[in-house]
Amino acid sequence: MCSFKRTLVTAALPYANGEIHLGHLAGAYLPADIYVRYLRLRGKEVLFICGTDEYGVPITIKAEELDISPKELVDRNYETIRQSFFDLGILFDNFSQTSRPIHTKTSQAFFSDLHRQGLLKQKTTEQFYSPSLGRFLADRYIEGTCPRCSYAKARGDQCESCGATLSPTDLIQPYSVLDQSPLELRPTTHWFLPLGDWQPQLTTWIEQHDDWKENVLQYCRGWFADGLEDRAVTRDLHWGVQVPLPDHEGKVMYVWFEAPIGYISSTREWAEQQGKPDLWRLWWQDAETRLIHFIGKDNIVFHTLMFPAMLMAHSENWILPDNVPANEFLNLEGNKLSTSRGFAVWLPDYLSKFPPDPLRYTLARNLPETRDMNFTWEGFMARNNNELGNNFGNYINRVLTFCHKYFDGCVPEWSDSQLSDLDRSALDAVEKDLEQYAIHMERFEIKGAVEVTFHAGQVGNRYFDEAAPFNTRKTDMVRCAQCLGVAVQIVRLLTVMLAPVVPFAAEKVWAWLGLQSDLFAGGWIESTRPLPAGNLLGKPEILFPRLEEAVIQSEIDRLNKLLEET
Ligand SMILES: [Zn+2]
Repeated sequence: MCSFKRTLVTAALPYANGEIHLGHLAGAYLPADIYVRYLRLRGKEVLFICGTDEYGVPITIKAEELDISPKELVDRNYETIRQSFFDLGILFDNFSQTSRPIHTKTSQAFFSDLHRQGLLKQKTTEQFYSPSLGRFLADRYIEGTCPRCSYAKARGDQCESCGATLSPTDLIQPYSVLDQSPLELRPTTHWFLPLGDWQPQLTTWIEQHDDWKENVLQYCRGWFADGLEDRAVTRDLHWGVQVPLPDHEGKVMYVWFEAPIGYISSTREWAEQQGKPDLWRLWWQDAETRLIHFIGKDNIVFHTLMFPAMLMAHSENWILPDNVPANEFLNLEGNKLSTSRGFAVWLPDYLSKFPPDPLRYTLARNLPETRDMNFTWEGFMARNNNELGNNFGNYINRVLTFCHKYFDGCVPEWSDSQLSDLDRSALDAVEKDLEQYAIHMERFEIKGAVEVTFHAGQVGNRYFDEAAPFNTRKTDMVRCAQCLGVAVQIVRLLTVMLAPVVPFAAEKVWAWLGLQSDLFAGGWIESTRPLPAGNLLGKPEILFPRLEEAVIQSEIDRLNKLLEET
């Protein structure tokens, strides 16, 4: 284990323009939650922070489509996203919103600090302005005639008719999508962060982290090779955090700049809820805190270069991320996920039909840790029925049911000192798996940890078959009791390993074992002490109900239909 005193874990702020889907989960949220639960299991001090990212142009466009205010839209989506995470067992210590006043205050103070130090550069560029609307327009709101094929409705970034890549200034007779009025170029002044100034410091810092995932390091080195450039911090838009300077009406911060500050504001909000408003500093500015950002690969540049540069530039002393375990992408039934075509499995829809644990398990077993992975409904059913049901559920059920049938529902009389070779080798094998499991988790290799857990389940089943208590109960009750004592101990170790991945099932089993303590407050430590004989065991029920082909088929049909339509 690391020598840090505490760990701050963040998961990428989900953009509040829709629901969460499986790709988001596999990219950042599930691995983050599993890792956090693992730390809690080991009795470590950890804070898990997230919130919705709510500013920027896509939100304003969506709100206009729905004819509601951006704030109404993000509040609505915030609630849906928060609920989905909760129902899937992804439990943040705080889940905030970037449209809240605490985030405005935090981001503005951050901007002001850099500005006061003279670290931001001012530049004037020409942008399209709508005289009729009285404001500058984002590229997404601009259309005009294509200079190549004369198509009259070419977008500011691309012509849909001839496919030419365009910039808004290429368009002939540009007009506003909002009211069709003509646009004119006007000078506008903005603040830029000269990222290149921090490149030497960033390079040194990144190269100290050869323990980071190879994909992450490769992205960073690629950007360093291209050279980091000035990046605009402010833009002309109304929906965003206002620039805290006089004469900056209508100018807000770019989302890339203020969204990561959202981690800090969410931590501040949490500290206020604790009644200790300064407590957030311990988590962001104390050298004994370790910061881990869980993100998808599309977010690497923001978390390894831009946000760290901002933290380096700030006049106070901030900790920098100790690791950024970014994941690759998850495909669905062999195709790329597409939110615009609706080709995805959305969390609220999933949760209305299935329990959370099987999805957590299937994704954890399939995480795109080093390359893109694929989710299939057939695979989901197989993982549920063959692995959760036949391996884990079956073993736990066999052992507890046996104790109820022949030992009055108690842990039988057994002793650590009376172990047979078979007992010893089974316990050794599971304890070795537990060790491997910890090594994998420490390295953010969640897939590896789940594989090892699966193996431990197999060891348990094999042990039960070979020790054959169903025979010895007729011939040698002492030996039979000894076997069940060992088998219950394996159930407990297995429960600990399963806990971060399938917490709902694990908490049930923990209670069946008669354990009063909170599994996620040091359950790992407790599991190394044998369960005392006489401990009353709960009556087991089916942990992982089987899934039927027909249910799965209707999900496959829905996706196939979407593919045919496009
Ligand atoms: Zn064209």
